[in-house]
Amino acid sequence: MIKNLLPVLHQKGGPLTEQLVLSPQTYGLGSLPIDQIPDSTTTAVCGYCSTGCGLKIHLKDGQAINLTPSVKYPVNLGMACPKGWEALRVLESDDRATSPLLRQADGSKQPVSWQDAIDIFCDRFKAIQNQYGNEAVAFLSTGQIPTEEMAFLGCLAKFGMGWKHGDANTRQCMATSVVAYKQSFGFDAPPFTYSDFEASDTLVFVGANPCIAHPIMWQRVLSNPNNPEIIVVDPRRTETAMNATEHLAIYPKSDLALLYGLAKLLIEMKAIKQDYIDANTTDFESFKQHVQAFDLERVAAETDVSDEQLIRVAKKIANSQRVSFWWTMGVNQSYQAVRTAQAIINLALMTGNMGRPGTGANSITGQCNAMGSRLFSNTTNLFGHHDFANPTHRAKIADVLAIPEGRIPTDSGLAYDQILSNIETGSIRGLWVVATNPSHSWINSPRAQKILAKLDFLVVQDMYSNTETAKFAHLILPAASWGEKEGTFINSERRIGLLKRVKKAPGQALADYSIFRLIANRWGCGAMFEKWVSPEATFQLLKQASRGQACDITGIDDYAMIDRCGGIQWPYTAFERSLSDTPAQERRLFSDGKYFHPDQKAKFLFVEPTEMPELPDETYPFILLTGRGSVSQWHTQSRTSKSPILRKLYPADPYVEIHPDNAAELDIEDQAWVTIHSRRGYAIVRAVLTTCVQPDQLFMPMHDGQTNNLTHEKVDPFSRQPSYKDCAVGILPSGGIR
Ligand code: SF4
Repeated sequence: MIKNLLPVLHQKGGPLTEQLVLSPQTYGLGSLPIDQIPDSTTTAVCGYCSTGCGLKIHLKDGQAINLTPSVKYPVNLGMACPKGWEALRVLESDDRATSPLLRQADGSKQPVSWQDAIDIFCDRFKAIQNQYGNEAVAFLSTGQIPTEEMAFLGCLAKFGMGWKHGDANTRQCMATSVVAYKQSFGFDAPPFTYSDFEASDTLVFVGANPCIAHPIMWQRVLSNPNNPEIIVVDPRRTETAMNATEHLAIYPKSDLALLYGLAKLLIEMKAIKQDYIDANTTDFESFKQHVQAFDLERVAAETDVSDEQLIRVAKKIANSQRVSFWWTMGVNQSYQAVRTAQAIINLALMTGNMGRPGTGANSITGQCNAMGSRLFSNTTNLFGHHDFANPTHRAKIADVLAIPEGRIPTDSGLAYDQILSNIETGSIRGLWVVATNPSHSWINSPRAQKILAKLDFLVVQDMYSNTETAKFAHLILPAASWGEKEGTFINSERRIGLLKRVKKAPGQALADYSIFRLIANRWGCGAMFEKWVSPEATFQLLKQASRGQACDITGIDDYAMIDRCGGIQWPYTAFERSLSDTPAQERRLFSDGKYFHPDQKAKFLFVEPTEMPELPDETYPFILLTGRGSVSQWHTQSRTSKSPILRKLYPADPYVEIHPDNAAELDIEDQAWVTIHSRRGYAIVRAVLTTCVQPDQLFMPMHDGQTNNLTHEKVDPFSRQPSYKDCAVGILPSGGIR
C-alpha cells in the first residue's frame, strides 16, 4: 500500500524518498533490513517520563522481544519502573491504529488508503484556510514524540503550511517552569544533574511526589549517603511525604505565603549569602521588603503550618551546606504558578544554593520529551528557543533552515486555552492533534469535548484509534510509537538520549516523521524540507539552530556519539567538543554564577498572593486535589491501560480519597460508590477512606477521564498553564447526580 502511494506523492508534491518510510538505515540500525539484523541487544531511552532511563533492548530476528534496564546508563544505573519494564507490551495492543480511518456520514470510521488520507488532510485544511484564513487552523502537539518529529511538525505547520497557531500538551505540564526560568535566569534552563539528588544534605520537594511520579529519581535520593533532611511541602501525605523528615502539610495553594515566610525567617537568621546575592542577582532589596509582610503569625494562619515547624525547617535549610529545591506539578499547575516557582528560585539564590553539587532550583520535567518540546517544537518559542518577535532570531532560523524569512511568523500565536476558546467562537475551524488526548486531559472536559465536537475538521494522529479525542476525529492517522521509530528525547537534567527503532509498526502505521514528509510533499511545500530526509538529518538542523544559545549542542557529532556517551546534556558546544572526545557525564549550570540575562544576573521576582479562584462553599465544601495515582499509570492511560501487568498494579475502579472524619459525617463507607460534583460536571467513583488527605480535602488521580469533568479553567497569567489542583466540589452518595 505504501509503496503504491509513494510514486503518486512524488509526482504531486516533489521528492519523497522511499527509504524514509521503509529503510532501516533511517532508523539507526545499520544497513541491514530490520528482519536480517542478527539476534543482539541495543539500547534506547524510555518513552514515558522525563527521567529518561536507558533500556537495553533484546532483539531476535531484528525485533525487540524483551528489555532490561541499562546498568551503564548514567540516569538509572540498572533500574526501571514498571512502565519502563512494560514498554514493549503496550505496542502489541489490539486497538493500535493500523490504517488511516475516515469518519463516514453515519459516524462510523472506515479504513482509507494513505494516499486518500493525505489528500483529504491537505484538501480539507486548505479549504478552511482559503475560506476563513490562516488563523482558522491550529495544531496541538505533545511532549511524547522525539524532538526531530516535533521540530518537523512545528516548522511544517508554521513555515510550510502558513498556520499561525500551534501549542503542545507541555502547556499543561511545564509552561510554568519555562516562563519562571526565562524570567529569573534569562533562559529556560533547569540547572541540575541527577547526581545532585545524591550530593545534597537537604532536599526540599514542593508539590512533587517523586516516590511514584519519578521513581528512579527517588531511588537516586535513597542513594544519598549524607542521611539527608527531606522536606516535603504538599497538602497530601503522599508517598514521598511519608518518607520525609519534615512534611509541611500546607493548606492548598498557600505555597507563596509559606515560601515568602521561609525567606523572611532565613533573612532574620542571617542565613543568606550576601556576597552571592550582590555579585549574581538583581532586585533582592525589593524582595526583602516584600517578604517583611510574611511574619510567622500570618504564614501560620494562611498555611496551617505551625510556627515551630516553620522555624525548624528554616533552621534546617540555614544549617545545610548543600540544599536542593525541587518542584513539579503542585507548583506548575496553579493560578499563581510562575511566581510560586520563582519563590523557590528566590530561596536557592538568596542562600547561595546554586551551581554547586547538591544544590539548585530544580524543576523536574514531566513527559519524556517535554524539554525537547520547550526548545524545538516551534510553538511558544521560535525553533531553537528563539523569539518569534526578534528579527535577528528570525533571520538566523531562516538561514539555518534555508527558507525565506517571510515564512516565519512574528509572534507565537495562541496558547492552548486560547486555541480552544477560538474554536468555541468559530474563529478556528480545523485542528490537528498529534499524540495527545485533550478530550481527557484538558480542564473542564465537558466544555473541551463540546469544543472538539464543534470543529469542521479534526485530525487525530496517534498510535491508538480509540483515545477519547479520536472519538471526535474526522480523520485518524495511524502513528508508529516509541520503539518503532528513532529520534532523540531530552530528559529533566537536559540529557539528550537516543530512541531507536526496534520493532515494526503495526499495519500501515508510520513514524510521525514520515507522515509529516508525506503531508509536506502533498501540501506543496516539500522543497522547503528537502534537507529533512531523516530524523538524524533533522538533528543536524537542531544543532545549527542551537548555535550561540544557552542550549548550544553544536559539539554533538551525531546519533552515534549520543549512544556512545550514554546521552549528552546540553549545552555541549563545538568549542567543548574540540577539547575532548567525550563530555563529562554529569554537568550542571551556573557554577560560575553567570546567568543568561544581558547583565548576567538572576532576578528576584515576587507577587502578593491572591485568593483561590474557587473557594469552598455550602454546595461545594471540599477542595479537590488531583495528581498521579500510582507508579504504573501514565497520564490518560492510552498506553498503560494496555498492559495486563500494569493494569494489576493500580486499583480496578476510579476512586476519590476522603478523610475518615468527613466520611463519618456523610455516612460514607470505605469503597462505597459516591458522586463528586463541581460547577462543571460530576464523577462517579469509589470512596477510599484515608488520612493521607486532610479533612475537607479530596484527592482524585488525573488518570480517570472523569476527573477533569470537575476541574475549573483558571490559568496562570504568565504561563497560561491550567490550575488543576484547587477546584471546589461536593460529594453525594452514589446516584446523587446522574
Ligand atoms: Fe521510564 Fe520514567 Fe519509569 Fe524510567 S522512571 S523507566 S523513564 S517511566
